[in-house]
Amino acid sequence: MTHKIAVLPGDGIGPEITEQATRVLRALDLDLDLQTMPVGGAAYDQFGHPLPPQVLELAKSADAILFGAVGDWKYDSLARELRPEQAILGLRKALGLFANLRPAILYPQLANASSLKPEVVSGLDILIVRELTGDIYFGQPRGVREVEDGQFKGERQGFDTMHYAETEVRRIAHVAFQAAQKRSKKLCSVDKSNVLETSQFWREIVIDVAKEYPDVALSHMYVDNAAMQLVRAPKEFDVIVTGNLFGDILSDEAAMLTGSIGMLPSASLNSANQGLYEPSHGSAPDIAGKNMANPLATILSAAMLLRYSLGKADQAQKIEQAVQAVLEQGLRTADIFEEGLTKVSTSEMGDAVLKALK
Ligand code: NAD
Repeated sequence: MTHKIAVLPGDGIGPEITEQATRVLRALDLDLDLQTMPVGGAAYDQFGHPLPPQVLELAKSADAILFGAVGDWKYDSLARELRPEQAILGLRKALGLFANLRPAILYPQLANASSLKPEVVSGLDILIVRELTGDIYFGQPRGVREVEDGQFKGERQGFDTMHYAETEVRRIAHVAFQAAQKRSKKLCSVDKSNVLETSQFWREIVIDVAKEYPDVALSHMYVDNAAMQLVRAPKEFDVIVTGNLFGDILSDEAAMLTGSIGMLPSASLNSANQGLYEPSHGSAPDIAGKNMANPLATILSAAMLLRYSLGKADQAQKIEQAVQAVLEQGLRTADIFEEGLTKVSTSEMGDAVLKALK
């Protein structure tokens, strides 16, 4: 069976890093149909829109999307709807990508890259499952209004609305429980149920979904405590599930524990397991075209693509082991380089991963 993969390299370092990831995918013994199209600023330059209809069509018809990164300062003066970043929002919306999976892994070889003590973070391997299409970011009504009574009567007031429908909580909870089943069977649901009605409801539904996963140990934590525990003892966590707002903050915090943004993959899935896979970093215009970007986050995103959208966990593991092997050999791109090790370019890192695969 042929699997169709839409490859959308994007801007900045996007083309360089996706090139290495597609080399890795092609080297595997899989029947893949990789189709490449521009997205973001590159698509704006060519077609006048960051997500033109033909690119959206390709993305919709594919089993999975391998995405580089979008954005460049040169597009800053464009109208908001034409900015490169709109391509990601458009893809999330059009494909219903409601589940964002962000692993934060700190390979022991890179323990010094973290700002935390090596013993606190070395070997860290956690997964944050963030709801991506609901919560206060999308809730209506929102805006600026006049306060009608009380202490601030007559003043202008900014407001947003936080809400979660039952289906939204159930489906993200299922994704998280199933991810936990594939790992160490521990799931922590993060909310603010001591203050927020939405969070109380979230917790009630997560507890109900848990009945379908008796093999997974469910715990709950308030978001303020979770933010503290992530820097105090991050290895206590395995899988964390949370809403859009809390997940936005906690996933960046967890990413920074590893100290190396160039190493972190991510996946955004819909209910059909169709997914968009991309590195957690941006398009790094400051180093674009210099063959010095770290391609490992994108290569690891390709591994997630195989695991979550194509059901090829064995091939995913092969890639992850190859990445481990090149780190073990002491090969480092500039962003993770330390004295005494071997500095390599983007393409040399790709070469090394390919060699380790064989
Ligand atoms: P960034 O992640 O692009 O870069 C931050 C810093 O990290 C830079 O110094 C960069 O050189 C470095 N860096 C990032 N990825 C790297 C890699 N693989 N290897 C080595 N070094 C790496 O964030 P930014 O500078 O805030 O944003 C730049 C552009 O990217 C902006 O236009 C922004 O909107 C866009 N952006 C896009 C995405 C996305 O496509 N998903 C995400 C975040 C930012």
